Amino acid sequence: MRGALMYAPGDVRVEDREKPVIEAPTDAVIKVTAACVCGSDLHPYRGVEPVDGPVPMGHEYVGVVEEIGDEVTTVKVGDFVVGSFWASDNTCDICRAGYQSRCVHAVLMGTLGAQAEYLRVPLADGTLVATPGQPEEDLVPSLLAASDVLGTGWYAAVAAEAGPGRTVAVVGDGAVGLMAVLAAKRLGAERIIAMSRHESRQRLALEFGATDIVTERGDEGVERVKELTDGLGAHSVIEAVGTQESMMQAIRSTRPGGHVGYVGVSHDVALPGDELFFALVDLTGGPAPVRRFLPELIDLIWKREIDPGKVFDLTLPLEEAADGFEAMDRRRAVKVLLKP
Ligand SMILES: [Zn+2]
Repeated sequence: MRGALMYAPGDVRVEDREKPVIEAPTDAVIKVTAACVCGSDLHPYRGVEPVDGPVPMGHEYVGVVEEIGDEVTTVKVGDFVVGSFWASDNTCDICRAGYQSRCVHAVLMGTLGAQAEYLRVPLADGTLVATPGQPEEDLVPSLLAASDVLGTGWYAAVAAEAGPGRTVAVVGDGAVGLMAVLAAKRLGAERIIAMSRHESRQRLALEFGATDIVTERGDEGVERVKELTDGLGAHSVIEAVGTQESMMQAIRSTRPGGHVGYVGVSHDVALPGDELFFALVDLTGGPAPVRRFLPELIDLIWKREIDPGKVFDLTLPLEEAADGFEAMDRRRAVKVLLKP
């Protein structure tokens, strides 16, 4: 089968890979209908994280079940399925509390490489959720978004306690930040401030439900959010970048008693204890337990109540995965969908 491999920063190739097979009785193998390039895939691509290449790429996927192990009971051959970027058993204490991304048996799907024609999914019963039937073609991008960016943005909005009567500010205008805008809107937030300097992303944020755009960042961005909130700061702030500047911008944009939902993968962020103490804000975040939200998100997409698939602004054949990485790296695309 064909699959994407990263050899070194900036060097992605699509090559022949071994087609995956059932290795454990709890595995499923799916034929991938669509996969995509994640903002976090750009970290090794840019050399921010080391690459010991060649390594398979991709952790977001939807597809059709091709084969199941003897112990798999909740999905069957032919089902259309969505899974999250962590495989999880969904039965351990951590999973049952709703934190499947830290399941005691968690497997990072990126290590198996979803940017490929076929994918082995460990712990299939816990990881995969079948859709009610075969989706219409135009629903596929939205279902794929649920696999990571929508689920992550949704978790961030829930962690930040976005809801009716609340003002929500979103730091970060990548796919996750944009999905957090959609989630905050759907959760009933009264006002949603998207912090973005890019016109195409501002437009998408407004489409997804943002009511205000703030183009300033850092301390100036914080000032603008305070101006818009009677000097208090937002009730709920979503951090979807992962840098020192963005994290501090999020904390400082939050009013005392407010909540920060942080989902940007942290890179050397160090929080000043004194400031954190007196900020009196609640910090909740980390790797999103997307599996917790998948049934609800699939239902909303199936009923066409949300359209997160609009976040994909470039679709390429899998063979052109390298172009997809480059387009996202150069910010020519928000999110690239790959079709095997
Ligand atoms: Zn578990």
